[in-house]
Amino acid sequence: VVRTRFAPSPTGYLHIGGARTALFSWAYARRHGGQFILRIEDTDVARSTPEAVQAILDGMKWLDLGHDEGPFYQMQRMDRYKAVIAQMLEQGHAYRCYTTPEELDALRERQRANNEKPRYDGRWRPAPGKSLPTPPEGVQPVIRFCNPLDGVVAWEDQVKGRIAIANEELDDLIIARADGTPTYNFCVCVDDWDMGITHVIRGDDHVNNTPRQINILRALGATVPQYAHLSMILGDDGQKLSKRHGAVSVMQYDEDGYLPEAVINYLARLGWSHGDDEIFSREQFVQWFDLDHITPSAAQFNTEKLRWLNAHYIKQTDNAWLAADVASRLARRGVDPEAGPALEPLVALYKDRVATLVELADALEAFYIDLHVAPELIAQHLTDPARDALRKLSARLETATWDKAALSAAIKETCTECGLKMPQVAIPLRVALLGQPQTPSIDAVLEAFGRERVQARLARVL
Ligand code: GLU
Repeated sequence: VVRTRFAPSPTGYLHIGGARTALFSWAYARRHGGQFILRIEDTDVARSTPEAVQAILDGMKWLDLGHDEGPFYQMQRMDRYKAVIAQMLEQGHAYRCYTTPEELDALRERQRANNEKPRYDGRWRPAPGKSLPTPPEGVQPVIRFCNPLDGVVAWEDQVKGRIAIANEELDDLIIARADGTPTYNFCVCVDDWDMGITHVIRGDDHVNNTPRQINILRALGATVPQYAHLSMILGDDGQKLSKRHGAVSVMQYDEDGYLPEAVINYLARLGWSHGDDEIFSREQFVQWFDLDHITPSAAQFNTEKLRWLNAHYIKQTDNAWLAADVASRLARRGVDPEAGPALEPLVALYKDRVATLVELADALEAFYIDLHVAPELIAQHLTDPARDALRKLSARLETATWDKAALSAAIKETCTECGLKMPQVAIPLRVALLGQPQTPSIDAVLEAFGRERVQARLARVL
């Protein structure tokens, strides 16, 4: 049975890279009918915060990446890590090292002078026939792992192919600090072991940890999972993704008017492909997802593509849901969504014209506020002949049947009466009503806006 995990460190919000890792881990478990485990790696006490934990949980919830087990918190598993360390000491897989920081500095200095790689020299590592120094008074030891001294540690990375590291390159990792707290790489091993993780899918910033973790897992007698290291995500400009690129927190995408389904679809294609398919549902993704089609090269973020997908998903979303979303966005701006026409018909008119929910709210705001049309727009569009036409139109609207066909007829009759072309009436009308020279079909806008509101707005500018 497949068991995957997402193991974020709660030192900030859930960012786009983390969300993609979570999505791939989640999808792999779903694809194979397995379990997806959420683990919060909060042992870096100085940098972990409860707010960050919450932000990660919120992000996962918004993306609807449900976990089957967890969240587990490493800080709640300290006793377990300590028990495993005791067991490793007992079995000879780990040893106490009393080297002081000063001695380590001196060692490094000597290695640098000899052009050697800085590494611990194993002076406290027990070996047959080797006599160890007497532990100094008052020095709390760290615990080091007995890394194999020779041979190679290798794995078939599911993304990067075979990776092999000579054990000579790895020194004896500290698995517990002098104060007894276990270190990061060690906790990950115990967790992956205890949680029965079969596939570790994570960012390739961890690739250097993997040989160490494999050696520890082997010493523990654990089954070594499969590893798939995902390449990083670059910004639009090819640079490492960072705050400079705007929204990097998943929840910022919510704020900016992206639908979770669009973000999921977008992330799915970020470093993974299924032929030429660009638009597919979450369910489809789960059916298709595999590790073979993950690209080993870095993926580049493309905001235009995300906007294109989002526009697609907005068109698919039902009007009632969109209306509720716009209402809450307007309310958050201090605009009363009750102070204007019904939202749903307007949403239907505008949803094909926007790429984000923020743009939808922006476009519809004019229907709900006490509109002040910009003086330049008035000067440009509300010329004397235009005003005259709007007055005549307003008179017709007083008695017109309030449906699209009759409203369209009223505008055409006004054009004929005044000797003007359609845009010469329709554009001033749009400016007068909404302060915008462009809107969806004007008869539809009039119909949705309602007779009284239309007349009141015309009266204000005329
Ligand atoms: N906690 C690590 C991180 O947030 C992930 C560790 C792992 O996936 O093994 O980068």
